[in-house]
Amino acid sequence: MADKASCMARCLWSIPLSLLFGLLLPLLVSAHQIIRHELHVVLQSDHHTLQVTDSITLPETLPPSDAELRYFTLHGGLSPLSLTSGVQFVRQPPATLPVSGDSHASATGSRLPLERYAVILPAGARTFALQYQGAIQHTSLPQDPQDAWSMPAIAGMLATEGVYLSGATYWYPRFHDEMVTFTVDVQLPLTWEVISQGERTRHERVNNATHVRWESPAVQEDVYLVGGPLIEYRQPAGSVLAMVFLRTPDVPLAQKYLDATAQYLRLYNTLLGPYPYPKFALVENSWESGYGMPSFTLLGSKVIRLPFIVSSSYPHEILHNWWGNGVFVDVHQGNWCEGLTAYLADHLLQEQRGSAVTYRRATLQRYTDYVSTHNEIPLTAFQARHSAATAAIGYGKALMFFHMLRQQVGDNAFITALQTFYRDNLFQRADFDALSHAFASVTGKDMAEVFQQWVTRSGAPELRISAALVQPDGQSYRLNAVLDQVQPGPAYRLQVPLAISLQGQEQASQTTVTMAEKHLNFTLRLPAQPWRVDVDPEFDLFRRLHREEIPPALTQLFGADKVLLLLPTDANAELKQGYRQLAQAWPQTSSQVLDIRWDQEIEALPTDHAVWLFGWENRFLLEVVTALAPYSVELTQAGVRLEGTPVTRAQHAVVLTARHPKNPQQTLAWVATQNVAALPGLGRKLPHYGTYSFLGFAGDEPVNIVKGQWSVLASPMSLLLAPAADSPPQEAAAQLAPRRPLISLPYDVQH
Ligand SMILES: [Zn+2]
Repeated sequence: MADKASCMARCLWSIPLSLLFGLLLPLLVSAHQIIRHELHVVLQSDHHTLQVTDSITLPETLPPSDAELRYFTLHGGLSPLSLTSGVQFVRQPPATLPVSGDSHASATGSRLPLERYAVILPAGARTFALQYQGAIQHTSLPQDPQDAWSMPAIAGMLATEGVYLSGATYWYPRFHDEMVTFTVDVQLPLTWEVISQGERTRHERVNNATHVRWESPAVQEDVYLVGGPLIEYRQPAGSVLAMVFLRTPDVPLAQKYLDATAQYLRLYNTLLGPYPYPKFALVENSWESGYGMPSFTLLGSKVIRLPFIVSSSYPHEILHNWWGNGVFVDVHQGNWCEGLTAYLADHLLQEQRGSAVTYRRATLQRYTDYVSTHNEIPLTAFQARHSAATAAIGYGKALMFFHMLRQQVGDNAFITALQTFYRDNLFQRADFDALSHAFASVTGKDMAEVFQQWVTRSGAPELRISAALVQPDGQSYRLNAVLDQVQPGPAYRLQVPLAISLQGQEQASQTTVTMAEKHLNFTLRLPAQPWRVDVDPEFDLFRRLHREEIPPALTQLFGADKVLLLLPTDANAELKQGYRQLAQAWPQTSSQVLDIRWDQEIEALPTDHAVWLFGWENRFLLEVVTALAPYSVELTQAGVRLEGTPVTRAQHAVVLTARHPKNPQQTLAWVATQNVAALPGLGRKLPHYGTYSFLGFAGDEPVNIVKGQWSVLASPMSLLLAPAADSPPQEAAAQLAPRRPLISLPYDVQH
């Protein structure tokens, strides 16, 4: 399923915040150094203030040269005082602040005030206590309408609607890039709950306040405090406690998530090894978000009530406890965790529903449409998603890489290698090299070349098949054909899947050919006469697709270099205004040239632009009708039927795409409604429906009522061979062997 909200939660928000904010910290301190915090916190939400005492224990083996550990950074205005005799803090000039101060400024749009202190410790001492207090309030920014792919960022919040504090807030002393263990005792307003990592070991209402303690003996990258006026639900899920915290009472909703938690923990325990924390909590956030933290997830009120989230974004967030929040990411060499999580959550669920091929094609489609030579980066340079292109690489290319690894080593070795990687790297930061090492240790093969070509090299292979020739050879047939890699740069080493349809046989003959050079002339001996060859018919290779392999879809307009938006001169004043505002707020990438015109200003549609046509009144509507001819869709002045669903001019909004009639490399899209109120919502929603060819919406929000892709009419990766004179013509390719999902479980989460 690729519904809008599952896509949003997957594409917009599901980066652990520690990645977003942590990645710019220079690695001056060994990541193995672990600092212990024993925090006592009083939250006063109505004054936005917190009071903290923290007892800090520095690592046992402090190298004498490791001066960085003798400095800590704290949120500004908290005025830390030493509680340990002989220990002093000396505030440093602002110029000594770590780079992260600036990274916060750019990530949140408002400068997070930070202060840096030198710690003067008596010789041999490594434990000291401090206290501090002050206000923390940084509001979230409205999302930039020009960038529908970025995440709404917030540095920290303590207000009547809730508390959100993370390592990025610097609400506790941070020395550098260290790892931590902690306990946190919190006194909070009576009706509040507060969630952190690990296990809750105290929960009491005393003296008109709530007292909560969380303990995390497991090593972490951050200390989170997240909460507010929440209602708690819980239920055991094996040895783990499933918890749900909602802002309004809703037993059926809570029960749905408690049950789903148990299901997915069972799935991933079986697949990867035991879940690493004592609880998993779903926490309803006071703003729309989709964060995954160690042992909990923070989702917005709208998102958790969308019916499909429980079987799409929710398992993705749970799986992040293995990848990203269990084995942490050493982002300096690239973020591997999003691709692996997408592969084992989003892709696995599609496999279990029999839709993996469609999912992989859509993944390759996004890469093909959004990534070009000027924005390609290797996976080692991907840290977090901030555009459609970076998502297509860091999620899409990476998940295809894991898919190819699985094809290469087989399901059993693939699973064993991931279990090994998990076991050996839990609660540590790991990189692609650690993954490569795990695969090499399980398979006994050197994985350096395969990791090098997909992880450190940017770009994608592009294939062509040609010169197919069939010759009888005794009782059998010989098929000779040529495969070429036409991408710039050196060859990729590829295992290219082939399916050959044979006369009189329902099942295709399937094989793979190894391609180590850019040109391969290969011969196959076949038991019956072949009449059709399909190259990579199930989209198992990471590669740039041919335009003709992809149905017309919105990605081709959102990703195009040159885009024309044509407004309808003949629409009424209100609609004209609505369309113009929509066009002016249109999502745009930095490399894109957008041209907004009235339809009366041009004589003919340009053939070198992707074109958006707005309005039933658009004078180029007939061009859309012509372009849609191959797809047998019925478009009249009253409306259109899409897969049997009427989408009317009077009541709905319609979005159709088609190839430009004069240049099939370009795509046209037509967006029309009589309901002005639906236009702002359409502008926000369409970027999340990128892989679709047609859409229908109802109401002001507007709500999607139908969506789909046109079928692919002729793929250059399929070759029809000259039929024998006496054989009947055939159309559909022979069937491919059924494939099993990586893991099947009896699985009763409601879809
Ligand atoms: Zn994710």
